[in-house]
Amino acid sequence: MKLCSVKLNDGFLMPMLGLGTSAPSKVAKSDVEEAVMKAIDVGYRHFDSAYFYLNEEEIGRAIWKKIADGSVKREDIFYTSKLWGTFFRPELVLTSLETSLRKLQLSYVDLYLIHFPVPLKPGEELFPKDRNGELIFDTVDFCTTWEAMERCKDAGLAKSIGVSNFNRKQLERILNKPGLKYKPVCNQVECHPYLNQSKLLEFCKSQDIVLTAYAALGSNSGKEWVSKNNPVLLEDPVLNAIAARHRRTPAQVALRYQLQRGVVALAKSFNPKRIQENFQVLDFQLTPEDMDTLDGLNRNMRYFVDTVPADPLALGALMSCAQTLLALQGHPM
Ligand code: NAP
Repeated sequence: MKLCSVKLNDGFLMPMLGLGTSAPSKVAKSDVEEAVMKAIDVGYRHFDSAYFYLNEEEIGRAIWKKIADGSVKREDIFYTSKLWGTFFRPELVLTSLETSLRKLQLSYVDLYLIHFPVPLKPGEELFPKDRNGELIFDTVDFCTTWEAMERCKDAGLAKSIGVSNFNRKQLERILNKPGLKYKPVCNQVECHPYLNQSKLLEFCKSQDIVLTAYAALGSNSGKEWVSKNNPVLLEDPVLNAIAARHRRTPAQVALRYQLQRGVVALAKSFNPKRIQENFQVLDFQLTPEDMDTLDGLNRNMRYFVDTVPADPLALGALMSCAQTLLALQGHPM
């Protein structure tokens, strides 16, 4: 089965379905290596990772093994990495990308994203904290960071550049930045039938920015920063009824829903059977009525929330802090 791609606003192509690679910290890193190799065999060409996931060495190794056995060439692969908040200072951006490339043993990434619109104090700690256990932020404006991202593209180390977890106002700050050289090609955000991001999607489309959905399957409550109390998307009765009618699984319908509305979908699985299952989404079509019904499931519900405020991996806390920081910088949301 051949995967369809979307043309980005800088002319490069991005496969519409990607393998997510972030997993709870208890999962062995060797599992991601196996998963990426299996996914390449199945037909995936798009892989989503980040400096923060601490798995780029394993992913690079998997890609190189599949290049070595003749399954793919480097140019067949679309690889995404992300800039973590502790590297927001412009002079650190290129260094951070070079660190990822060294781990991957690659000479470029296809896409480099600002992971969150939140700068953190530079240093070794992923979550720098003060004596009271509070996160220490940095004051650098992400528009300055964006200029350094543009230099990564100019240097050929990132074919395309974009953002993640940006809301409309934050995107507009970049789009309206004086001297903007490159628009973000995409905005990667949480997106699934319970949080369909329809307004943000409409805005992104109007700006020729691709919206990429993470947690498209409802994520995994085993992850440290994912809410344990929300309903499980893949158990939703309406989603299951549509799946039964098409003789598909709820996961396939949740992914197909995104592709049909022009959203690039990420699906994480390290299980060979489910890696295969999630790829079988190109040979069926949801009806307009199915799409309307799935739209109707929206309840603006996030899986990625700050469930444990003291948790060092509290990404939800970062997102809510984005608002405070913008206000401090004189750009209230
Ligand atoms: P997800 O892809 O929505 O869901 C992953 C979970 O669903 C895993 O527990 C997986 O378990 C299970 N699963 C996969 N396929 C399934 C199927 N067919 N049937 C039943 N269960 C299935 O969640 P995610 O990993 O949170 O998000 C996807 C990717 O987006 C991440 O891996 C990462 O690359 C990216 N992401 C980005 C950000 C950001 O801030 N930019 C945040 C979160 C995620 P098995 O592995 O056991 O199959």
